[in-house]
Order: sequence, then C-alpha cells, then structure tokens
Amino acid sequence: MNRVDLEAVAARIRPAHTVFLFTHEFADGDALGSMVALVLFLRSMGKTVHAFVPGKVQNVYRFLGTDELLNTMSAQMASEAVRTERVTCLSADAADLDRLGEWKSLFLAGAERLVIDHHGTNTGFGDVCAVDASASSCCEVLLDLFSVVDVTLVDAKIASALYAGLMADTGSFQYANTGVQSFLHGARLVELGASPDAIACSIYEGKPYAALRLTAAAVSASRLLYAGQVVVSHVTREMLEHSGALDEDTDGITDELRRIAGTKVVVVFREALDGSVKVSLRGKYGFDVRRIATVFGGGGHPLAAGCTIATGLGEAEALVLTELDRYLGPSRI
Ligand code: 5GP
Ligand code: MN
Repeated sequence: MNRVDLEAVAARIRPAHTVFLFTHEFADGDALGSMVALVLFLRSMGKTVHAFVPGKVQNVYRFLGTDELLNTMSAQMASEAVRTERVTCLSADAADLDRLGEWKSLFLAGAERLVIDHHGTNTGFGDVCAVDASASSCCEVLLDLFSVVDVTLVDAKIASALYAGLMADTGSFQYANTGVQSFLHGARLVELGASPDAIACSIYEGKPYAALRLTAAAVSASRLLYAGQVVVSHVTREMLEHSGALDEDTDGITDELRRIAGTKVVVVFREALDGSVKVSLRGKYGFDVRRIATVFGGGGHPLAAGCTIATGLGEAEALVLTELDRYLGPSRI
C-alpha cells in the first residue's frame, strides 16, 4: 500500500468532528466488517460517527453489533446535519458512487469526501482516495490505516470486525487474493484479540436452515455448459418463498457451485424484488469474470464480480451467455 495515500486520509480524519460512513449495496462481510470497525475506531477517537448502509443489513453479521452500530441516524436528520455542520464523508469497499445506493447524494453533500477501497476498478470518486488493489479486502487496508492513526485504539471488537471482513473476502484464506499480506494482517488481528474459531463459527455455522434448503434447490437447478467449463444456476422469487429463505441467503450458492472440478466460471442469476436480475460471477483457474460484469455496468474483482441487469431472468441469462460465447463458444453443450 502506498503509505502516502493512507497518511493523506489519516490527515483528513484526525481533525474531523463528525464522520458519516458509506459502503456498497448488498453489503457483504468485508463491507459490514469495515463499517463496524470504522464506527468503533472513530468513536474511540472521540468523533461523532454514523454509518449509512444501503438496503437491508444481512443477519449473519449481527454478532459484530450491526443492529446497534449501523444505520443509527434517519435520512432526514442526516441531510439536516450535512447542511448545518461540517461532515466528513468516508466510503469503504465501494468501487464507484452508484454502489452507495440510496445514500449516494448524502455522500456527495459532505464537506469533504474520502474513499478507502481495494477494488482495482475504483473510480477515485473522493477528494482523497486510498485504494490498494493488492489487498484482499478493504478490512486489510483499514488495519493499515488504523496503524497509521493509532493502533492502540484497536480493541478485540474492532479486530474481530476486521478479521470477519478479511475472512469473508478471502473465503477463509482460500481464494486467489490470499497472499502473505492476508496472513500477516490476519495474524496481527488475532494478536489484537480476534478469535478465528468464534468468528468462523458465527459466519459459517450460523445459517438459517432455510438458506441450506435454498442452496440445495439452486444446486438442483444448475446446469453445466461449455463442456463443463461453466455452471449456471438461478434463484427465482418462487424458490425464495418456497424455501423460506431471504435474498441475503443466496451468498452461499456460488461457494457451493465453485467446488466442481473443471468449472472455470460460476454464474448465479437471482430475481430481485423489483423484477431486475442480480448476477453473481465467480472465476476459477484465472478466468477473468469481471470483463463479463463490466459489459453490463457492473464490476468487482477479476475472480469475483457482479452486475444487475434490468430484464427478466431468461433474457439476463441469454445476454450473459452471449458474452461467454466470446471466450468459450461457439458450442455451449
Ligand atoms: P457478489 O456476487 O458477491 O454480489 O459480488 C462479488 C463482487 O462483485 C464483490 O466484490 C462486489 O463488490 C462486486 N459487485 C457485485 N455486484 C456489483 C455491481 O453491480 N457493480 C459493481 N461495480 N460491483 C459489483
Ligand atoms: Mn471487499
């Protein structure tokens, strides 16, 4: 990480009195871990802090204190605050402005805008940006930032939130983004009080039964294409209703499907409540799926990316397969 960038962000944070935090929609473990850690860390610096997470916060990360710590201020009070006082807005783990969802305009209304991220595609939408594309997770970058500011403020709760994000984005130190730095940051977080077994148990063994039933249904509905190089599945509203699972319970499906030997690409299409389709892509053996997601206005990382397509399920699938044809076609059989 370029230390200069972190120093620049730290220099803006130190004198700030009120900080509003932002992250990406469909907030995952890294996004939520980043939010919780930042709320606690900045509060311990004596600042007034509020985090604005778009959409619904996933239940599985409740053990980090998400209910008490996030979304603690109404939209109305927040817009009043940015009008009447100097508010520093800080985005973490979001690659571009649109990813902030319904909080985008609040972020823009801040007196200054800071960006901390690890997406190589980050558009640099802040006045000061610290983007480390070599970091496995935004939580890794945050530990570096906290170390620049004052590492003695990192207690066991903050360390646990950062560890949860690091674990989520590396798939428990398994994905290709796992490097020496991931282990060094993980080790440091354990030293600072994070408990690997307790956190793993909360995340991986804390699923509602309905989530497993939904995963089973999605695995049953999956198809192998391009001589087994691609596995495709989908989640309809009916499957969600039938299993009793929530939209957030779809996270484990890509993990399950990526286990198949020989598949280079995992694609899961989920029907969203508004009728659009959320596409989750995972690449294996170095197959870059981000180039597919970006065609549809999405993004992410080379081996884990996503996008939203404003069509029905069938049409979204046809569009994505047409893109895959370019790399793996012509035969889809
Ligand atoms: P997931 O499939 O778990 O929703 O997302 C995988 C990765 O792709 C994450 O890094 C996430 O931030 C990114 N991603 C997912 N959907 C979108 C999208 O619509 N736009 C962008 N820019 N990134 C996305
Ligand atoms: Mn992340």
